[in-house]
Amino acid sequence: MNGPKAHDWINELDVYISGKSETAQAAKSIKLSANESAMGPSPMAMAAYVNEAHKLHRYPDPAYNVLRQTIASRYAIDMKRIICGVGSDEILKLACRAYLNPGDEALYMAHSFSMYPIAIKSVGGVAIEVADSDYTANVDNILAAISDKTRIIFLANPNNPTGTYLPKAEIERLWMHIPDNVLLILDAAYAEYVDQDDYEAGIELVERSKNVLMTRTFSKLYGIAALRLGWGYACKEISQTLDKVRDPFNVPSSAQVAGVAALKDTEFEEMALTYNKKWRAWLTENLTILGLTVIPSQTNFILIKFEGDNKSAAAANDYLLRHGYILRYYNSGELENCLRLTVGRDDENKEVVKLLKAFLGT
Ligand SMILES: *Cc1c(COP(=O)(O)O)cnc(C)c1O
Repeated sequence: MNGPKAHDWINELDVYISGKSETAQAAKSIKLSANESAMGPSPMAMAAYVNEAHKLHRYPDPAYNVLRQTIASRYAIDMKRIICGVGSDEILKLACRAYLNPGDEALYMAHSFSMYPIAIKSVGGVAIEVADSDYTANVDNILAAISDKTRIIFLANPNNPTGTYLPKAEIERLWMHIPDNVLLILDAAYAEYVDQDDYEAGIELVERSKNVLMTRTFSKLYGIAALRLGWGYACKEISQTLDKVRDPFNVPSSAQVAGVAALKDTEFEEMALTYNKKWRAWLTENLTILGLTVIPSQTNFILIKFEGDNKSAAAANDYLLRHGYILRYYNSGELENCLRLTVGRDDENKEVVKLLKAFLGT
């Protein structure tokens, strides 16, 4: 007997592999594999979430007006063109659903966010990987990969898992040279962490374009990954289109109120940013002293490269796991010799450096 058969492209789809949260080897696990907030959630967001429990019998505001107003006033943007989603992941998928026919092509960078090919293939699109250079997105390579069938370009800026970014001028150059009918998605999940003056998350470009979508998340700096809240910003036509393909009550009220509170909790935000900057620099410096290569990062994580002799990233990963520390290990391709480390609490950061020093025998 044959059951129902899914689309070929669904049968061939890979599932997303998330950062591990437990080790088999050690009793206690320290999870530094998913770029979660070292500072925990914003206390104001937590309080708003708890308070919302009294209203669990009510459907959420389908237009999430207060949340959109709060985002709009924070960034001085047009509330009507903000779309919210179940994590920014949902917005990436909505864009694929709305703009890709089966067989259409979408581009994404090598060594980038693994959700992109999954989102593309989930609607029958053809995912085209574009080579990067020096762990950084390469605009010329993207332009060279555009064909008649290209409909979407995904660009994480700053990029995950490499931590690198493209300056505003490069994004501008990319946008200037792509056809009008190609949607440029600027995934700015780590925008808040950037401390370079030549960076722009995408708002300026959205304001004067008809083919740019910027996405943001509450999962990283604001520390409410569990609530799955993200948002996007685009021109009227794109935001209305995405609004049509989303579910009416896609964002739970608990996530809406927590998001509003998180945006108002500027004290937490400043503390978390200062903390991240300090420890990102500390980790970079101290791991470099051990002889490891650290890719310069503008995010809340760093990519560590193991080079030469017999000290491989795989072996380092095993060693750290045995001691209860979970980093992100990529067991294929050019990242095979890398580990991605999320900035953790101060004692955790110190312990990782101590363990790696012992592992390397330096
Ligand atoms: C973490 C991350 C996101 C955010 O995902 P959410 O669905 O909002 O939790 C998006 N893009 C990149 C590149 C990320 O690393």
